[in-house]
Amino acid sequence: MSTRPEILFPLFASLETLGGVGAKTAKAFNGLGIEAPRDLLFSLPYTGTDRRFRASVEEVRAPATVTVEVEIGRHIPPKVRSRPYRVEVTDALTTFQLVFFHANEAWLTRHLPTGQRRVISGKVELFDGIAQMVHPDYILRPVEAGQIPDYEPGYHLTAGISARAMVKSIGEVLARAPVLGEWIDPEFKKREHWPDWQAALAMVHAPKGPDDLSPAFPARRRLAYDEFFAHQLTLALARAKVRRGKGRVSRESGDLQQKVLAALPYKPTGAQLRTGREIAGDMASGKRMNRLLQGDVGSGKTLVAFMALLIAVEAGGQGVMMAPTEILARQHLESLRPLAETAEVVVEILTGRDKGSERAAKLDALKRGDIHVLVGTHAVFQKGVDFHDLRLAVVDEQHRFGVAQRMELGAKGTASDVLVMTATPIPRSLALAQYGDMDVSVLDEKPPGRLPVKTASMPVARLEEVVEHLRRAISEGRQAYWVCPLVEESEVVDKIAAEERFAYLRAELGEGAVGLVHGQMQPATKDAGMADFQAGKIRVLVATTVIEVGVDVPNASIMVIERAEHFGLAQLHQLRGRVGRGAAQSTCLLLYQPPLTEGGTKRLAVMRETEDGFRIAEEDLEMRGAGDVIGTTQSGLPKFWVGDLEHQAALMEVAQKDARKLLVDDPELTSDRGRAARVLLWLMRQDEAIRLISVG
Ligand code: ADP
Ligand code: MG
Repeated sequence: MSTRPEILFPLFASLETLGGVGAKTAKAFNGLGIEAPRDLLFSLPYTGTDRRFRASVEEVRAPATVTVEVEIGRHIPPKVRSRPYRVEVTDALTTFQLVFFHANEAWLTRHLPTGQRRVISGKVELFDGIAQMVHPDYILRPVEAGQIPDYEPGYHLTAGISARAMVKSIGEVLARAPVLGEWIDPEFKKREHWPDWQAALAMVHAPKGPDDLSPAFPARRRLAYDEFFAHQLTLALARAKVRRGKGRVSRESGDLQQKVLAALPYKPTGAQLRTGREIAGDMASGKRMNRLLQGDVGSGKTLVAFMALLIAVEAGGQGVMMAPTEILARQHLESLRPLAETAEVVVEILTGRDKGSERAAKLDALKRGDIHVLVGTHAVFQKGVDFHDLRLAVVDEQHRFGVAQRMELGAKGTASDVLVMTATPIPRSLALAQYGDMDVSVLDEKPPGRLPVKTASMPVARLEEVVEHLRRAISEGRQAYWVCPLVEESEVVDKIAAEERFAYLRAELGEGAVGLVHGQMQPATKDAGMADFQAGKIRVLVATTVIEVGVDVPNASIMVIERAEHFGLAQLHQLRGRVGRGAAQSTCLLLYQPPLTEGGTKRLAVMRETEDGFRIAEEDLEMRGAGDVIGTTQSGLPKFWVGDLEHQAALMEVAQKDARKLLVDDPELTSDRGRAARVLLWLMRQDEAIRLISVG
């Protein structure tokens, strides 16, 4: 299994093995993401042109593509070279003109001899009421007319790759495509009326009409399923490996949890209790936990995670919680420590800022087991950080990890359990695609008594009104965030924008009332700024998006977002989630710079309409597509060539079930179907899966 099956060699040969493709063309193909002949198979047409034969151009309403037989009339060369060359032609009903710019007269007289008949196909347009066809796509003798397809597929092209070249290359690769063993469950395939793999490829590249281009076309669905299935098989293999590995049994005594719950000023929600039980169940089992905790902003994920960490401690071990940023790690420390102290649990922090003897002392304490719970940034997983008995790793996630990274993380403690928390909800189909190797718990209930956040959008020209509003709010003891955007994609420029706004607001609202944090600040200064805000010394915190994730200041009830039209929906939702956490009525003001794009208008409207993170996530997916929502490059989510997570979400679900079932029925992938699935993994470049199988 560690080498590619021979049957696939022709599909993974160099592109230059294709007729007419040299180094230059190959390079142009690379520009389209096409690296091997295989990729051409999965580059599907996105459009098509109707070229059915008609008697006359009058049968269509111009502008439209038409194919007709004509008799060639007179040639009308231009009087000046800059004008076009014209040729009069007559079909069954009417006379019209073919138009050529920068014409080669010799070529035209050869191919369009006056008095003869030709079949031509191209786009007719009306010019001053007269039909004309500029540069026909086809000019053929009547006997050659069969070369024109009734419906011609259109592909994404690039400089150096013409439509003809694309069609020709794809045709060659289609001829190379072998008959492969079937990896799809036969019952399912029959029920869906799906063709075999090779036949499906032929069908998608020879569409008979627009319906054949739709994601609902059976051959397309089959190929999409193949991609999803290969991906889910990779995730299922990763999952099987984790589950095969011996887990630790961490049984809760409840002692520490009871003490902490008694010290809490509130009661856990039903959802917190339920997800807590799911996690405790995993931890008590001998299997390794690999669980995702999904919940909207403010749903109280931290408490759930902390209870799980306490189970690790109750069982005599340690826990670690990794946050995406320094600020968040500190905040976790500050919120957890007082609670932990009531139960005499030692919580410590480790970040990149720890140096020298202090760091060494922490590492020692960790190794001895004197620190029970470690919070920090990714520094907690660096080399040299050794635990006495790590039983649970919690990842409070901003940058989404790929499967491989998650596995690495689990490897740190021998057999320790892993709990990943998402920063924002993601649509179900994406959750399946990205976290298919994990079990999922959903926090679908917010702590009680939260008032909805009032959200309004207004042009930045009304800035003064906003400042007036803030002045009043501050005098009533409220606090506000003021977020400055990433406009220039440059931290320096953004810093300047934030500093200018800071200076302005200070002048308006008073020196002591306004603070500033941004990504370029010295860490200690940044922390101090956050701390002042948290303590209520500062009333307005001007910030770049460093506050985006997780920061929790319940007294802050106003969120102003400048140039809100530049932010994505998920980000806006995250930011708004910073307010509405206390008893006071909160507001979110989205300031924009007109004119708004269509997308900008829609995003702001969605924000005004709903606070439901799951709904916002679905809208986001619809507007942006899957790759952008997750950020494909850093997500470990493969690029799907055919599969479309928006329109084929249900297929992903089936693919996950099938993949898991196949591995239960045939863990070594040695049955006929199992062996076919191995070929599929190679075909789909699932290196991770292949490694997992090879290692066994
Ligand atoms: P997130 O899910 O966004 O990480 P947090 O864990 O930061 O949410 O919790 C948000 C806020 O809700 C915090 O101030 C926390 O103390 C509070 N909180 C958490 N659980 C409850 C609860 N059951 N009842 C009331 N407030 C709660
Ligand atoms: Mg959080």
